Amino acid sequence: MSVSDTDLIRAWKQVLSLSRLEAGQVVTVLTGADTHPQTLRCALAAAGAMGARVNRLDLPPVNAEKSLSRDALAYLGATPLTGNPAAIAALKASDLVLDLMTLLFSPEQHEILQTGAKILLAIEPPEVLCRLVPTEADRDRVRAASRLIEDAREMRITSAAGTDLRCRLGSFPAICEYGFVDEPGRWDHWPSGFVLTWPDEGESNGRVVLDRGDILLPLKDYVTEPIELTVEKGYVTRIAGGLQADILREYMASYEDPEAYAVSHIGWGLQPRAHWSMLAHYDKEAHIGMDARAFEGNFLWSMGPNNEAGGSRTTACHIDIPMRNCSVALDGRPAVIEGVVQDEPGLARAARRKEAV
Ligand code: FE
Repeated sequence: MSVSDTDLIRAWKQVLSLSRLEAGQVVTVLTGADTHPQTLRCALAAAGAMGARVNRLDLPPVNAEKSLSRDALAYLGATPLTGNPAAIAALKASDLVLDLMTLLFSPEQHEILQTGAKILLAIEPPEVLCRLVPTEADRDRVRAASRLIEDAREMRITSAAGTDLRCRLGSFPAICEYGFVDEPGRWDHWPSGFVLTWPDEGESNGRVVLDRGDILLPLKDYVTEPIELTVEKGYVTRIAGGLQADILREYMASYEDPEAYAVSHIGWGLQPRAHWSMLAHYDKEAHIGMDARAFEGNFLWSMGPNNEAGGSRTTACHIDIPMRNCSVALDGRPAVIEGVVQDEPGLARAARRKEAV
């Protein structure tokens, strides 16, 4: 269902206000061939109405001939900014970059953030953006979860389906994704609402059993029969199951990169307004699956790079896997029990209230 420009401009204004946009600041909207025209139009209108100086930087797409998917997160690595110092300079000179193109997992993104510029990614369809407008309560809840990760040295994930994975923590920070950028040099993604970190290199071991209803991204498929993944010393060494396991194996093999199989980010969803069932309604090419990543209580883990967290792995392949009904324990203390988040009731209640926008 479509949303009105009025509603989307109001949503942008809330996100920009939470991001502490001030009159006179420079906002650069980064766009590409797949940028949604209404999202762009309303971002320009909202930022302009708040008194910002607004630029638009449109860059041609790259990587399509290498990727098997049209999903913006399916092929990482070179971006339209790679080897493009003029474009990088424009973004570095901005107070806020609204990324309607997708820079995620690129060294250029790091370089821009280091100057203090903020970057907010927003590429989901307008009605998803409007449904998942972030709030301060979202931030508070995600931050509280991140403190649990920062204090822990091991994350253990178990499930009735047979998952038992242990990940050593400590090398990488906990990352909060709550949908707005309220600090200099901060990156975030609207919509989101989850916490994550990366396990220490080579220190994840066990097995993950994907059950019916777990989700494979960027394939955007619900798992229909179990898939068992063996994890040894930080890498998935075996993917076993039926047709979907065969598809996943062949897809990952197409990258011809052993680093594709490394365990990447691990964490859990905290967004009550995101829904597991959303994927069943949409064409695969209409969205990138943020409901699937953020829905409350999912255990989200992935295979692929860790350069976003300051690591050195930069593989082009990235698989995100949101799982239902898992238990997540930090140093033995439960953070999620069978898909139910174990945080303070007050934090959860506040996050459930959708603030008026
Ligand atoms: Fe991911």
